[in-house]
Amino acid sequence: MITFLDMKSAYAELKPELDAAYARVMESGWFVLGKEVEAFEAEYAAFCGTKHCIGLGNGLEALELVLRAWDIRAGDEVIVPSNTYIATWLAVTAMGATVMPVEPMPNGPNIDPDRIGAAITSRTKAIMPVHLYGEPADMDAIMALAGKHGIKVIEDVAQAQGAKVRGRRTGALGHAGAHSFFPTKNIGAYGDGGAVTTDDPKLAERLRALRNYGSRVKYVNIERGYNSRLDELQAAMLRVKLPKLDEWNERRRVLAARYDDRLAGIPGLGLPRAPQWAEPVWHLYVVRTERRAELVKALDKAGIGSLIHYPIPPHLQQAYADIGLARGAYPLAEQMADTVLSLPMGPHMQPESVDAVAEVVRATLS
Ligand SMILES: *Cc1c(COP(=O)(O)O)cnc(C)c1O
Repeated sequence: MITFLDMKSAYAELKPELDAAYARVMESGWFVLGKEVEAFEAEYAAFCGTKHCIGLGNGLEALELVLRAWDIRAGDEVIVPSNTYIATWLAVTAMGATVMPVEPMPNGPNIDPDRIGAAITSRTKAIMPVHLYGEPADMDAIMALAGKHGIKVIEDVAQAQGAKVRGRRTGALGHAGAHSFFPTKNIGAYGDGGAVTTDDPKLAERLRALRNYGSRVKYVNIERGYNSRLDELQAAMLRVKLPKLDEWNERRRVLAARYDDRLAGIPGLGLPRAPQWAEPVWHLYVVRTERRAELVKALDKAGIGSLIHYPIPPHLQQAYADIGLARGAYPLAEQMADTVLSLPMGPHMQPESVDAVAEVVRATLS
C-alpha cells in the first residue's frame, strides 16, 4: 500500500510541538485574531520576503479579498490560466468580473506568457498566474507585461509555498500573493486557512478591515466586509510547521529527482520539466500519458494511490456553462485534463516507494 499523501506521519513527526501549541491556545481562552495569528503573520511574511502578511479564512477568500481590495468589479477583466483549479476562476467571477483564460505552455502546466499579450484589453485590471503543482509561473515575463500595461498581478500560491524564482519566493513576486493552508498543501493547517502576502501597506490595511466585517475599530464599519480570519488554533499549528517547510520541500525534491530517474525513457510518458530559473516545491508530481485509464487501473491494483489534477478544466465545468465555452475552446487545457496523472508525493513518502511506483508505471506502459 502506497498512499497518495501520508498525513498521519506528518502529525507523528511533530506531535509534541503540535499538541503543545493546541494546549497553549486552548488554555489562553482566546481564539480569533490574537497573538498567534499576529506572530504567524510576522513569521510567514519573513519567510516569503514580504513586508506584510494577512491571515485569512482560506485560499479562495485570499484571492477574492485582494480583487475586492483592488475594486475589481463587473465590466473588469482578469487574465487567468485556462489550466487551473476552479478556485482561481471563482474568485474573479465572485466579483462579477470577467475571466479571460490564457492557455498553458505546450508542455504545461503554467500560463504561457507569450499568449498573455493578446488577451490584454482596455478593461484588463489584473493577471492571476497560478504556480500549479508547485512549479513557479514565469513571473519575470508576467511582471514585465503587467508593468508595461499598468495592471496588477496576484499570484495564486496555493500549491507553491516556498518555491522560488531566481532565489526569490513565490508570494513576493507579484503585487500580492494568495496562499492556502488547506491540510493537503505543502504547509497545511488542521482545517481551513489562508493568507495574503504583499509589500503594499495600503493593500494590507484594506485587507485587515475587509477580513473583519470592514472594521478597523470594533463596531465601526467603514465598508461592507467579510468574515474571513485565520483562527488562533490554525495559526499556532502553522507556526509549528513553518520552520519545517524548507526541509519538507527538500524531501519532495529528492523524491521528484528519483521519479525523474526511475521513470526516464518510458514510451509515451511525459515527465514534469521545470524551467532552469525555477525552484519548484513539488506539491504534486504529475506525469502525462494517453493511456491514463489503464495506468490508474494498474496502480490501483498494486495498492498505489493516484489522483487527477484536474479531470475537467474550468471552462467545461457545469458551473461555467453560462459563459458558453465549448470543448475545443482551450485545447491545451483540455489535453492536460485528458492526460495528467499525479503520482504519490509528500515529505513522508519513502524513497523506495518511488521505485515501486515506477516499476508499475514501466510494466504497464512498456
Ligand atoms: C487549494 C487551492 C485554492 C483554494 O484554496 P482553499 O484554501 O481550499 O480555498 C486556490 N487555488 C489553487 C490553485 C489551489 O490549489
